[in-house]
Amino acid sequence: MIQRTPALIEARNTTGSESWQKILANAIRDPHQLLRALDLPDSLLAGMEAGHERFPVRVPAPYLSRIRRGDMNDPLLRQVLPLMAETRSAPEFLADPLAEQESDAALSPGLIRKYRSRALLIVSGACAINCRYCFRRHYPYADQQLGRSRQKQALEHIRQDSDINEVIFSGGDPLTMNDRHLGQLARELAAMPQISRLRIHTRLPVVIPQRVNDSLLEWLSALPVPVVIVLHINHPREIDQEVTQAMQRLRGAGVTLLNQSVLLRGVNDDADTLEALSEALFSAGILPYYLHGFDPVADAGHFDAGDDRGRALMRTLLTRLPGFLVPRLVREVPGKDSKWPLDLGLLPE
Ligand SMILES: *Cc1c(COP(=O)(O)O)cnc(C)c1O
Ligand code: SF4
Repeated sequence: MIQRTPALIEARNTTGSESWQKILANAIRDPHQLLRALDLPDSLLAGMEAGHERFPVRVPAPYLSRIRRGDMNDPLLRQVLPLMAETRSAPEFLADPLAEQESDAALSPGLIRKYRSRALLIVSGACAINCRYCFRRHYPYADQQLGRSRQKQALEHIRQDSDINEVIFSGGDPLTMNDRHLGQLARELAAMPQISRLRIHTRLPVVIPQRVNDSLLEWLSALPVPVVIVLHINHPREIDQEVTQAMQRLRGAGVTLLNQSVLLRGVNDDADTLEALSEALFSAGILPYYLHGFDPVADAGHFDAGDDRGRALMRTLLTRLPGFLVPRLVREVPGKDSKWPLDLGLLPE
């Protein structure tokens, strides 16, 4: 295979269609701008500003283009719209619901090891979109991010531990990192004899499908181990033509595509939406993996649909979809050595 230099690859990708970096840099970061772009009522502004102060607005153009104008209940908008409710969240919603900041799971800065065979690297603290329900709104990911020296230390830890056979790139969003850096990191890990696959947890190819460019596909397809990308899509309308094409390109590079969603009140907490989501995922070449029960994140209590609602929805989904299109409803329980499936109850008579 002919190796092109990274410089040439980066240059080629900035010609033609707009680069993902430019789209990311031009994302909406201001409540007024969001309000105007979507013809939202002025009555929302005070809440938007109050929420924005706690966790800034960030919405990139490709995601914005899928939101219905003038509809404050649009399920895509709900995921990015700051509301006054964020300032009135009940005290049982916590800043660090998964107790990650005190956990001994942090092996070295930027490396989290909760489960025996998988280690998670916080490759980047940045995201391309700010999701209001995310616990990242309180977690100091920027401090946890891998720098050069931390990366060396983290790789040493992984190399020494033969129980780890899978490394997960996470964040934030790991794909906010440039391909030269990511490709190097991936090659170094894939060269370790005990590593049988790499995994990437990302929302970027969904919110900015232009992220799936030639330089990404090039290093992904050249790796000597299989790659799994776990996307994060909560609603079927997040998948448009561009996203579907990006998924086809990833599959063409040999990547296995899975999806995790979060159960969110007012976004996807009804059976029709979840059914349509599974169908849309399959049409785009993605299999549902997890449906996460909502973590009690401070300032985001208005998204909590409750576990009983989640269980009821799962029972309905089981009757409507083939087994391979039903995600597993799980919850992260601090201290547990895997994500925990929510019990759906006794078999019906
Ligand atoms: C979610 C998570 C994983 C991956 O769990 P799977 O059940 O394998 O998807 C690994 N490490 C950490 C720290 C996680 O939070
Ligand atoms: S980590 Fe994922 S869910 Fe959280 S803000 Fe970033 S993209 Fe959204």
